[in-house]
Amino acid sequence: TSKKIKNSAHIFANEMQEGFLKNITMEQELRKAIKNNELFMVYQPQVDTQGNVFGVEALVRWNSTAFGKLVPPDQFIPLAEATGLMPKLGRLIFETACYDIAALEQELKRSLQISLNVSVRQFMDPLFLEDLLNILDKTDLHTLNITLEVTENLFIEELHYIVPLLEKIKSLGIQISMDDFGTGYSSLSMLRQLPIDELKIDKSFVYTIDKDETSAKMVQNIITIGKNLNMHILAEGVETQEQKELLTAFGCDRFQGYYFSKPLNKEALLAFLKSSAFY
Ligand code: C2E
Ligand code: CA
Ligand code: CA
Ligand code: CA
Repeated sequence: TSKKIKNSAHIFANEMQEGFLKNITMEQELRKAIKNNELFMVYQPQVDTQGNVFGVEALVRWNSTAFGKLVPPDQFIPLAEATGLMPKLGRLIFETACYDIAALEQELKRSLQISLNVSVRQFMDPLFLEDLLNILDKTDLHTLNITLEVTENLFIEELHYIVPLLEKIKSLGIQISMDDFGTGYSSLSMLRQLPIDELKIDKSFVYTIDKDETSAKMVQNIITIGKNLNMHILAEGVETQEQKELLTAFGCDRFQGYYFSKPLNKEALLAFLKSSAFY
């Protein structure tokens, strides 16, 4: 047995080393990717109860030449967070999204709400707000048309720094959305302390509402709480008409998901908005 343990320890060490090496390579490649413009943004339409597109969520994509494929953001955003690359990557994401949408607004002569995902390290960067306001100024976008999607992870950090900053951000007209709502552990107490405009129900709940009564009841109660607190409720990951109808009956007022549209690059988004009867 001692030989077996030794062997498995050896395999484990090898696997750890492989994971470690893989991360180093990915980190180096990500640094290069930022320089070489391998990152781009896609935009997923967000619709109201009438089916009108009122906004888009900006989602980053990395088309890596080194790996020969699209690397999912679930993989490289955490890596950027861990390696100190995030404030820079976050700034690039905000800038690209704001330029893209400002150009589209000019072309379509209408405005859109732009939802931007904010990671913890990006938000905690001392230049976060200043950078964002500079980007809005350069692109002539209004603070009222910006929504920041924050997650519960943020609130593990120092609340005495975060709460006043969020309040300042909100006082400038920027909207705050609570992303992945219900998946963390401190959701309810956060709602009391924070200036939140929108609750975003995670797709893991939406996926099961028409299959499982417990999740249906949970979603129903989340919606009731949010509405009593005067928040918008946006359901993400809506894939079927049944889900949309159930969510509407529960009082959800905003929707996003493949049922309406997949995330689109800026050209495809322009075509989508031009061709939809209402936008
Ligand atoms: P998230 O913020 O919860 O984003 C929602 C994810 O659900 C996106 O995956 C979106 O493409 C996907 N999705 C939308 N509708 C549907 C649907 O109907 N069905 C299914 N199955 N999926 C749907 P994506 O783009 O792969 O992003 C994954 C996560 O990576 C995001 O989760 C977010 O946490 C992070 N992320 C993506 N872009 C950015 C970014 O620009 N900045 C930051 N900080 N994080 C980002
Ligand atoms: Ca999000
Ligand atoms: Ca300006
Ligand atoms: Ca989510």
